[in-house]
Amino acid sequence: MSRFFSEKYASLVPYVPGEQPKKTKYIKLNTNESPFPPSPLAVDMAAKAAEHLELYSDPECRELVEAACEYYGVEKDEILFTNGSDEILNFAFMAFCDRQHPAVFPDITYGFYPVFADLNGVPYETIPLKEDFSLDASDYVGMGKTIFIANPNAPTGLTISLAEIERIVASNPDNVVVIDEAYVDFGGESAVPLIHKYDNLLVTQTFSKSRSMAGARLGMGFGCRGLIGDLNAIKYSTNPYNINSATMAAGVGALKDVAYFRKNCLEIAKTREWTREQLLSLGFRVTNSKANFLFAAAPNYPGKDLYLDLKAKGILVRHFETPRLKDFNRITIGSQAQMEALIAAIKSLLA
Ligand code: PMP
Repeated sequence: MSRFFSEKYASLVPYVPGEQPKKTKYIKLNTNESPFPPSPLAVDMAAKAAEHLELYSDPECRELVEAACEYYGVEKDEILFTNGSDEILNFAFMAFCDRQHPAVFPDITYGFYPVFADLNGVPYETIPLKEDFSLDASDYVGMGKTIFIANPNAPTGLTISLAEIERIVASNPDNVVVIDEAYVDFGGESAVPLIHKYDNLLVTQTFSKSRSMAGARLGMGFGCRGLIGDLNAIKYSTNPYNINSATMAAGVGALKDVAYFRKNCLEIAKTREWTREQLLSLGFRVTNSKANFLFAAAPNYPGKDLYLDLKAKGILVRHFETPRLKDFNRITIGSQAQMEALIAAIKSLLA
């Protein structure tokens, strides 16, 4: 730290992204990327847009907004695009949390939430998930705080029902509830339709996973006009051109290529179920994930050892060495061939 770093950030503990090795060629199952390339239409449209990178991008993202409104059945003032969904989550902490509106989220969830809270000087509370990592909606009823829930959750992949979400949203009318749906397309139930009923619900999604665009950085949020207006105030006070033109064009292509998107989501869900069955038959404990990853603990094999032994065999998974998670690893669902290689590697290690 230099002597110039602002005191207000002195104790900040930054988020640690999953490894992105460039030299060694791993079977990379550690950051929940898609094994499939982006839609060819998205790639074509991005390439065409790149011919005009001399111009600023459209701060209103009009073409993208139009395509998304059609797909999601929302109005143009009910949606906002951001540089990955991390950006809209940060905007939500900035816009809807302060000392009077502290944040609350589960003890086990996306590791960026406490970082955003600290970055913005927001006090927060965590609520323990149950022993089996499931979330009890009653814990959040009438909370009186700004609530952040990932559904499906990370790193467990577990979901809560739309009825439970509605119970939480309806019982906290004076606080914003943020439902982070980064993984919803792989088998979850989206809360987007509820934004028309509740003015305190913000739903965030991303193009990083189900639309194979992690490198493009494109996220979005859905909410009533008032909430989206507040988030726009933050966007226009930080970076009005937060979506670059190539990404914007790729996003339009990805939204239009519905068949490609659906096929990939189904394929990943199918491969997830295959992999889960294999791991269960090897004696693993595996959560009933609806995301593009599994959360699994090997029998009599510490999580960290399995992570390191798989890495030595050229397979990268994600390990979290914290008391409740240390037995487990989070394994991204890759292609069927990659998952067959994973299972073969695990079998040889267990033997
Ligand atoms: N929410 C959750 C639960 C995530 O796991 C991630 C991925 N790290 C994100 C949001 C952010 O993804 P992105 O910024 O790529 O949209």
